Amino acid sequence: MPGLIEGKVTLVTGAGGGIGRATALVLAREGAKVLVSDVSTRRGEETVGLVREAGGDAEFFKADVSRGSDVEALIAAAVTKWGRLDGAHNNAGISGQIVGVAEDTEENWDRTLAVDLKGVWLCMKYEILQMLRQGGGSIVNTASTAGLLGAVRMGAYAAAKHGVIGITKTAALEYARLNIRVNAICPGVIGTPPILHWMENPKTRDALLGQEPIGRAGRPEEIGQAVAWLFSEASSFVTGVAIPVDGGLTAQ
Ligand code: NAD
Repeated sequence: MPGLIEGKVTLVTGAGGGIGRATALVLAREGAKVLVSDVSTRRGEETVGLVREAGGDAEFFKADVSRGSDVEALIAAAVTKWGRLDGAHNNAGISGQIVGVAEDTEENWDRTLAVDLKGVWLCMKYEILQMLRQGGGSIVNTASTAGLLGAVRMGAYAAAKHGVIGITKTAALEYARLNIRVNAICPGVIGTPPILHWMENPKTRDALLGQEPIGRAGRPEEIGQAVAWLFSEASSFVTGVAIPVDGGLTAQ
């Protein structure tokens, strides 16, 4: 049986990590070619190895999403390799320092916003320019439940993720008639390496899982499956939304 997104050319940023890596694997399993990108060559190439081991088609391109020249070269690399870019998952992100608003520093604020918000805008800019040239495409930005709710001691992160939803909706409106759909996914507590590390502390584990009505952390591939659907024709009337994939966290 053909995959959900057979033959589509896709990009995942932050694909050396938990959600991005799992998404790259899901996209490849669903038939897409995947340009795996990360600021870490080692982690990104590991992901490419995993995709190929599973029988998929992937290449690595190193890019720091906070740098415009890196991002422009990244989108050009997809087009050079495969001729187009059908689906882009702008997923690279950092949590920033865990600190209250009054104790936060300009350094933490600037870095967190540069990666989590400016990085998403830069990716969208060059992706949209390419999608306009080829007549359409689908973009999925990783926001967070912290883009919908406050996040205690993560003010810069919450501000950036609220901003991701704002630019997602804006781009969706601007390009809706031009066959480019733009959506965001808001993961809840997902069992990626940084979160699993935090959960080694029993108090933190109870606090994190206590927020989850489903009673467990999400699996990274549960985000990847939502991305594959948003890249596919099955979601052809869906644009401008921020979809919680959060085990019910934001229903409370
Ligand atoms: P992760 O740390 O496992 O992976 C993030 C990846 O992004 C890493 O491989 C890292 O090298 C890369 N990266 C960091 N800065 C970069 C930059 N400037 N340019 C390019 N790549 C960069 O994290 P994750 O949990 O998989 O998170 C992925 C996304 O999901 C992030 O945007 C995060 O905010 C979001 N998110 C995660 C959770 C969760 O529970 N894990 C919840 C909500 C949202």
